[in-house]
Amino acid sequence: MRLKYLAHYPEPLQAQVRPLAEAGRLGEALQRRFPQAHDVRTDGALYDYTQSLKSEFMRNAQPLSKVLYDSKLHVVRHALGTHTTVSRVQGQKLKARHEIRVASLFREVPLEWLRMIVVHELAHLKVREHDKAFYALCTHMEPAYHQHEFDLRLYMTHLDLGGQALWTPAAA
Ligand SMILES: [Zn+2]
Repeated sequence: MRLKYLAHYPEPLQAQVRPLAEAGRLGEALQRRFPQAHDVRTDGALYDYTQSLKSEFMRNAQPLSKVLYDSKLHVVRHALGTHTTVSRVQGQKLKARHEIRVASLFREVPLEWLRMIVVHELAHLKVREHDKAFYALCTHMEPAYHQHEFDLRLYMTHLDLGGQALWTPAAA
């Protein structure tokens, strides 16, 4: 079984996951470790959450103009989120507007994973590429960054194999 969301991890690590994935038991394993989702459910709450992380770690970075959940974002394409810098001419100066869009999938996941993705996008305010400096900044803001990304990728694998969303609030 090819595990595309885990493809860049070492084979021995993939080999540990494969039996659970093949048995269709990744979901229950995750749910046991992460019994509940966060409550950052609106764009306003996401903005506040992101600002509070920013003021803790990146006070001097450029201000954010917008932070929102985006249902059209393709989750994996850019490390699970996206960050855009829109340049606009304002008078004589070129000012950059920084916008963070988080895939809607993150509305219904454990707080650890939302934190990981917001940290990722905040790090892009300072470092554009996914290089060593970039990940150093991510792990400075969240020491368990890589663990959270791995766990999130387990969840993506679970969904990819046809598993149900785990933390979706019950339909009213
Ligand atoms: Zn990125």
